[in-house]
Amino acid sequence: MIRVAVVGGGIAGLAAAHHLADRPDVRVTVCEAAARLGGKIRTEDFADVSLDLGPDAFLARRPEAVELCRELGLDGELVPPATSTAYVWRRGRLRRLPAGLVLGVPTRLGSLARSRVLSPWGWSRVALEPLLPGRKLRGDEALGAVVRRRLGNEAHHRLVDPLVGGINAGDTDQLSIEMTAPSLATAARAGCSLVRGAARVARAGSVPGCPTAHRGRPAVGADEPAQGPVFLTLPGGLGCLVEALEFRLVGAGAEVRTGAPVTVLEPTGRRGYRLHLETGVLEADAVVLATPAHDAAPLLAPHAPGSAATLASLGYASVALVALAFPPLPVGARVPPLDGSGFLVARGEGRLMTACSWASSKWSHLDRGDQVVLRVSAGRAGDARVEALDDDALVDRLRLELGESLGITVAPSQVRVARWTRAFPQYAPGHRPRMTATEAELRRRLPGVVLAGAALAGVGLPACIASGRRAAELATAVPEQAPG
Ligand SMILES: Cc1cc2nc3c(=O)[nH]c(=O)nc-3n(C[C@H](O)[C@H](O)[C@H](O)COP(=O)(O)OP(=O)(O)OC[C@H]3O[C@@H](n4cnc5c(N)ncnc54)[C@H](O)[C@@H]3O)c2cc1C
Repeated sequence: MIRVAVVGGGIAGLAAAHHLADRPDVRVTVCEAAARLGGKIRTEDFADVSLDLGPDAFLARRPEAVELCRELGLDGELVPPATSTAYVWRRGRLRRLPAGLVLGVPTRLGSLARSRVLSPWGWSRVALEPLLPGRKLRGDEALGAVVRRRLGNEAHHRLVDPLVGGINAGDTDQLSIEMTAPSLATAARAGCSLVRGAARVARAGSVPGCPTAHRGRPAVGADEPAQGPVFLTLPGGLGCLVEALEFRLVGAGAEVRTGAPVTVLEPTGRRGYRLHLETGVLEADAVVLATPAHDAAPLLAPHAPGSAATLASLGYASVALVALAFPPLPVGARVPPLDGSGFLVARGEGRLMTACSWASSKWSHLDRGDQVVLRVSAGRAGDARVEALDDDALVDRLRLELGESLGITVAPSQVRVARWTRAFPQYAPGHRPRMTATEAELRRRLPGVVLAGAALAGVGLPACIASGRRAAELATAVPEQAPG
């Protein structure tokens, strides 16, 4: 019997535990510091709907989250957004984003022209990109640098940075292309046009064997439909996924402890580990560490100082998500129809808000007809204003910006503030090799201790789930080796 301790009950840790729970030769214990499971996944009753105050959807083009839902019997409940229209707020105006963006990279030139998000020069720069010679990407680089080089400053600043920077609460001039836009990295590495690479992703969901013989062809013609929805969610909120995982784990005989922070991890001689909890100790043969990097670092520091230092040095951005419910808004000269999923705010606009999701327009299950529910995000790497404001000041400031962007001046009927401190890992170029070296040191010094989660794999839920499954496999593959 292999005893596996999973430290951290976010989606990565729960996916790891789920992957092992049915194995007759494995006994799983999940230790979660907080009083509830789920980590960043948090669904609450708000204005008579179940509202996600963390992630509200996952990418459906990667298989892992859909597969997990299928394994839990939830796949029949998955729903796509009600709309694929979205806007960007720039220079005091909402502009409709063109159709066919892949991580902000345009794939439909006609739609890009009609959107007028870019100037005629900015549009031409994108249209010419497939004809541009360029060096192949070697190793890793900042996403911003690659996109500026290929598509120009405008497409970067107005499209790619708001989208990918928004997803990561970061600055794409500082973020690794490999970690934040792997499909674009694949295209860039093949010396392929980013526009063409993105178009292939839009059609196929990946960049298999990106063609390099693209020069001389028209940029992107096709308004070919993508296969299936890009995003999916559960109508009861993603908390339903966490509940289903807990139910399945407990049913399979796994032990789930909440309010159980692990404070010390120590090797116990020839085989195994002792984990110190506030309530006692837990013996394990293998450990999946599925916590944020800054929480894993102190546990590893006495035994694997290099790994601990790398993890401790990983920067994180703090954000706040403010939910607001309003009575039906009078659409008119000031208030536009909320006919999309919401809007992003380009960096450099001086706004606190980074995005505003029109939740009751985006999701049919949140549209009760008699209210408008918004999820407003604020805070990103390099902008510490959110942390300096108390909740009242934060809400006041965001309401002011809602007035400027959407003309909403009426008082909300309900407000809820969710603060996510040190929530988004900021992957600098070279992150993946640094993590590979970190894992190699762990294998040498603490065999059977394996990392999982967003710090390792990327922020998206499918990537976190994949990292949990992988960690579960690796942890149980080496139970007999002695820590050294
Ligand atoms: C506001 C917001 C919106 C987001 N939107 C999306 C989205 O729409 N789609 C998407 O795919 N992703 C989204 N993300 C990102 C995604 O939610 C996260 O990347 C992902 O949930 C991280 O999962 P995780 O398991 O790696 O970490 P976490 O969820 O952070 O879980 C780690 C757990 O470890 C626990 N822990 C820490 N230290 C210890 C210890 N010593 N002992 C025991 N337990 C410990 C923590 O309490 C926590 O529960 C969003 C994130 C936020 C904050």
